Amino acid sequence: MGLFGWIKGKSRKHNDALAHEECMQMLQVVLDEEADEKKNKQVHEHLQKCMKCYEMFHLDKKIKELLKARCNNVNVPEGLIESIKSKVNNNPT
Ligand SMILES: [Zn+2]
Repeated sequence: MGLFGWIKGKSRKHNDALAHEECMQMLQVVLDEEADEKKNKQVHEHLQKCMKCYEMFHLDKKIKELLKARCNNVNVPEGLIESIKSKVNNNPT
């Protein structure tokens, strides 16, 4: 319960901005498939309420899939990864 309470307390205090930070960090863990069931659920609940994290999640997922495909010698056009990356970086905060 500790972590969840900590995040809740923080996000209440700092409103949405920090909740995003927490979520962004958790997104990476979820995407790396290292999150436990509870974290997975928390992130997915947040994704349903937050379009920005939702987009981030799916873009990141796409990038990871493409990179993985490349590692497996699947032919992925260079420009595709770059265009997705620039889309992520241009995401206004
Ligand atoms: Zn968010």
